[in-house]
Amino acid sequence: MVGQGGTVQARPPSSSLDADVIVVGGGIIGLSTAMQLIERFPRLRLTVVEKESGLAEHQTGHNSGVVHAGVYYAPGSLKAQFCKAGSDGTYAFCRSHGLPAEQCGKLIVATNELESSRLGDLFGRCTANGLDPQWLDGRALNQLEPNIVGRCAILIRTSGITDYPAITKAMARNVTVGGGEILTDNRVIDMHDEARGVIVETDKQTLRARFAVVCGGLMADRLARMCGLDVDIQILPFRGEYFRLPAAMNDLVSHLIYPVPDPELPFLGVHLTRMIGGYITVGPNAVLAMAREGYRRRHMSSRDLWEMVRFPGTRKLLRRHSRFAAHELWNSVFKRGYLAQCRKYCPDLVLHDLQPHPAGVRAQAVKSDGTPIHDFLIARGTRSLHVCNAPSPAATAALPIGAYLVQQCIEAFNFPHSLH
Ligand SMILES: Cc1cc2nc3c(=O)[nH]c(=O)nc-3n(C[C@H](O)[C@H](O)[C@H](O)COP(=O)(O)OP(=O)(O)OC[C@H]3O[C@@H](n4cnc5c(N)ncnc54)[C@H](O)[C@@H]3O)c2cc1C
Repeated sequence: MVGQGGTVQARPPSSSLDADVIVVGGGIIGLSTAMQLIERFPRLRLTVVEKESGLAEHQTGHNSGVVHAGVYYAPGSLKAQFCKAGSDGTYAFCRSHGLPAEQCGKLIVATNELESSRLGDLFGRCTANGLDPQWLDGRALNQLEPNIVGRCAILIRTSGITDYPAITKAMARNVTVGGGEILTDNRVIDMHDEARGVIVETDKQTLRARFAVVCGGLMADRLARMCGLDVDIQILPFRGEYFRLPAAMNDLVSHLIYPVPDPELPFLGVHLTRMIGGYITVGPNAVLAMAREGYRRRHMSSRDLWEMVRFPGTRKLLRRHSRFAAHELWNSVFKRGYLAQCRKYCPDLVLHDLQPHPAGVRAQAVKSDGTPIHDFLIARGTRSLHVCNAPSPAATAALPIGAYLVQQCIEAFNFPHSLH
């Protein structure tokens, strides 16, 4: 349960409860959804169930903290729709809750001909997505950021930074103030439908609710299958390794500095990120991890690894992107390779500037034919909704994703009539 100041404690194991809605997952998507369900239906009996002892322990607490403006996403996709609204909503939420956010702007820097041509495409996409990008030649770029070099760049002023765990905890406070309950230390081990509702079994207790909204991040596919959904995806974990620059380099850049991404891949490339707290991180790369929560290189889970090996999508994805996979693995092991990626646009960086910083693991849904799913993916069961793919920019887009899930509850499950 969330106590004073947003700290979380486990509920006594013997108790059971009867809720209208159980939200599984104490990341930013779960809490955004829970908060908006309570705001919309103030008499709703709602319980959030989280397996860790705190909130935002996985992707939400291990990311770059960037408020994305909506540059990269295919017009009409859920990502494009939700990112822009999410960015505005995130800044507004931070203002109204006294949380840190800074609209520092972002530069995407092209360093060769191929990247320049891809940057031209990205410029068009920004415009199609309703942004107001500014094209800079190499000189203008260097004037704006004296430590950065490139052939050309685009500037997006509305990108910024925030603290997503703090946002999640503020959402959690709103949930408990609205009468909702948050159970931590409760790992969902089984879920199934019964005639009048859904049974959620945790390692501590059996919970019954009318409906469930499942926002399980790295475990999303397993939780969907528990509910009997036949989803043709598997979550593959991609570790994103970061470094932190020394405090003396806190003023190295005043914008976020990104490379031009490969449009085939769902990753943005190693970037320089100004963090709330004043320091700068470098990263993340994207290395296939040997465990879904494999934050360290040697961390291995035999269950996760066996599932990955058996899943045809893993082999097909790796075959299709073998060069990229090998390159990322090499650069993960050899810091010099990692450094070379950053030196393309920030040539003054040297090896000992790269100091340790915790990694994150991305939950990337991949189809059995090896295609990574780029867009957000939400699947519907008889009495449950499942967020099956919510990669970046889902932290930025958490408010509109939550609003969308509330709307789905109204349309698919006939809220509020079905609650009585
Ligand atoms: C390295 C990295 C960098 C990123 N950078 C950015 C960025 O700069 N900007 C941005 O917008 N997005 C970014 N993202 C993406 C963003 O962090 C995620 O999209 C977002 O946090 C997803 O939130 P979530 O709630 O779906 O998942 P999570 O935060 O992973 O939460 C899922 C929760 O479900 C819980 N859970 C799982 N299984 C069970 C179970 N069986 N029982 C109970 N609970 C369970 C987990 O413990 C977890 O707390 C980044 C992600 C990573 C990894």
